Amino acid sequence: MTNTSARARMQIPLMKPTFDEAEEEAVVRVLRSGWVTQGPEVARFEQVVADYVGAQHAIALTSCTTALSAALMVMGVGPGDEVLCPSFSYIATANSIVHVGATPVFVDISRNDWAMDPVLAEAKITPRTKAIMPVHGTGLSCDLDPIYEVAGRHNLLVVEDAAPVIGGTYKGRRIGSSDGPVCFSFHPRKIVTSGEGGVITTNDSEFADKLRLLRHHYMSVSDVQRHQSSGVVFEEYEEVGYNFRMTDLQAAVGIAQMHKLDDIIAERRRTAHVYDELISEVPHLSLSPRPADRLHTFQSYAAVVLPSSPISRNDLMAYLLERGITSRRGVMSSHLEPAYVKRFGSQSLPISEEISSTAIILPMYSGMTNAEQQYVVDSMADALGKA
Ligand SMILES: *Cc1c(COP(=O)(O)O)cnc(C)c1O
Repeated sequence: MTNTSARARMQIPLMKPTFDEAEEEAVVRVLRSGWVTQGPEVARFEQVVADYVGAQHAIALTSCTTALSAALMVMGVGPGDEVLCPSFSYIATANSIVHVGATPVFVDISRNDWAMDPVLAEAKITPRTKAIMPVHGTGLSCDLDPIYEVAGRHNLLVVEDAAPVIGGTYKGRRIGSSDGPVCFSFHPRKIVTSGEGGVITTNDSEFADKLRLLRHHYMSVSDVQRHQSSGVVFEEYEEVGYNFRMTDLQAAVGIAQMHKLDDIIAERRRTAHVYDELISEVPHLSLSPRPADRLHTFQSYAAVVLPSSPISRNDLMAYLLERGITSRRGVMSSHLEPAYVKRFGSQSLPISEEISSTAIILPMYSGMTNAEQQYVVDSMADALGKA
């Protein structure tokens, strides 16, 4: 490995959005139309996402967090109910369950895919368990079939947190095509973005209709219908709903991004392959799991600092930052955060805790050069070579 101190210092961000004229034109088009909140662009965006993942319906909302809560509410999950989910996820997973008054019951992950272990999930079922919320983290699907089998055996609902995995597949099927509901995020940390936004896909028409009402205060007539009507229209509100609406400005950006999704995934997979080769030469590091039956989109590229390493993961991150390289800790363990310790006391989930404290997410963005990747990996090699 070359000594990075002898090289020019580079600035390497974690991620860059892939915006160009397409997104700029989309925003201008919506501004000039005079209709900026949920309207025709949201409807088009929903169709694009539904067609892409192979679902009958897609419903856009303000975020994946609100999408997860909305799905639980429409399914009738609430106070007194328990929902099985991994702690090893962004904290939004657990928060979405708490938001509806239900209790997240944390399940440890499997080393095979860093996703909720279906066997451990089944062991945590109680008479209060109402639903399972499996998470597809970092662009890799969880092991869906055994999760749905456990749910089927115990008559539990399933809500998939697919926030970072749009475009990923499981056994040849796109994530979002299962019975679901399946919730995606369009936050800028994901590989395609609408600024903020979430989408729920489902094949259940009745469920889709209820979600469309819930996100708009259960208003019986949509804004667009009222706007297009020639007569005076009075709406009704049958239930207490929410404002979970996406704007047309966001949806138009989301459509432009969806058109780029396949190219973005192909490039991320090429970049990941280069990292894999470079990292295989570096001692004290290992790669994240890659089950053969799933397509990884590499929304996040994670490596693991092995116990043999002379320095900790956190020290490695600090060393990289000194060299202008932004990294992130791997996926968090929500049960360790004060918000959850305060509510539920301390819990032990050994595999989640181990991987949360040893995984590191490396920079990856569209246009990242081989020289930039080499600089990142050389810097890690330098750091890990220091005893
Ligand atoms: C990003 C993310 C979320 C939250 O998505 P938002 O759109 O920001 O609400 C939830 N779960 C997982 C696993 C995520 O990665």
